[in-house]
Amino acid sequence: MNNKRIIDYLDATLGDCEIRGLERNYKCPFCVDSGKYNPDSDGLHVNVVRDAAICHTCGYATRSLLYLIRDAGGTIPKRLFEFKGAVNIVKAVESVFKVDDDAEERPVKLPFDFIPLSGSSGTYSDAMRHYCSKRGIPDEVLNAYGVGFSRDDSKVGGYVVLPVYMGGVCRYWTARRVMGRGPKSWNPPHTFKSRVLYNYDNACNHKLVVVCEGPFSAMSFGTRAVGILGSFISNEQVRLLGNMPAEEFCVFLDADKKDKCVEMAHELADRVGQKVSYFRLKRGDPNDEYNRCRLNRLLRHRREADLHDALQREFDRLF
Ligand SMILES: [Zn+2]
Repeated sequence: MNNKRIIDYLDATLGDCEIRGLERNYKCPFCVDSGKYNPDSDGLHVNVVRDAAICHTCGYATRSLLYLIRDAGGTIPKRLFEFKGAVNIVKAVESVFKVDDDAEERPVKLPFDFIPLSGSSGTYSDAMRHYCSKRGIPDEVLNAYGVGFSRDDSKVGGYVVLPVYMGGVCRYWTARRVMGRGPKSWNPPHTFKSRVLYNYDNACNHKLVVVCEGPFSAMSFGTRAVGILGSFISNEQVRLLGNMPAEEFCVFLDADKKDKCVEMAHELADRVGQKVSYFRLKRGDPNDEYNRCRLNRLLRHRREADLHDALQREFDRLF
């Protein structure tokens, strides 16, 4: 991350700040949004060297300034993107959203009153946080994934909203019901689910990336997993994986997709340049209570998807 560019961006977006040692204190945008702003409080402390920010008034806290920029502005400007490795993530993302030469498919915008969980407190957001913590997802992971909610949007009020950020832009989102009535999950009507990978941006910083199904499964692995939002992997998703800086992918689907898991690993091994492995889960999904605390241990027992094995099996099946 380029500190000078980040500072320039923060100054331009958040306004004047008071500099104390390594810290810059800005007027907190989340206090302003939630009506808690108090001119006497010491504001949002930003430490560019430690790559962290905190506000003691509203409780907003993050261990990455890119998340602060995203939470305050809705997107991360392209010029601030610098991933490890030489792959141009922004170009890779744009390539799967291009419909023809000059038109790029428009991203699905977040609900109009979307509030990131990290920047909010109160009974409503506490209920959302409780729902996620019951599923074993700690605050810092919710923060990294930009999880939030919308109170007033009539369609997703009562739902926890899970944005899909790709190249710093929210391209899609999905929602799970926490309270009230309505279907268990809710997806925006205009769907390009097949062109997105949940948690793509964070996963681009990992050497071993786990490929799993839903958002809560992905979150159970910390920040190293992408969710394909279903159990089918599309051509665009394969292309996105192939362009990631990762060195290895581990396919880790729910237990009821044991065969599909191996099949998908072989398909990937055939189509991406990176090493591919898989893990066949014996029961449940990565997010259930039994599995989620053992995931790192289970990952150690992943098996490499051996193309030779796959061909031999195919041969045995045919002859
Ligand atoms: Zn604040």
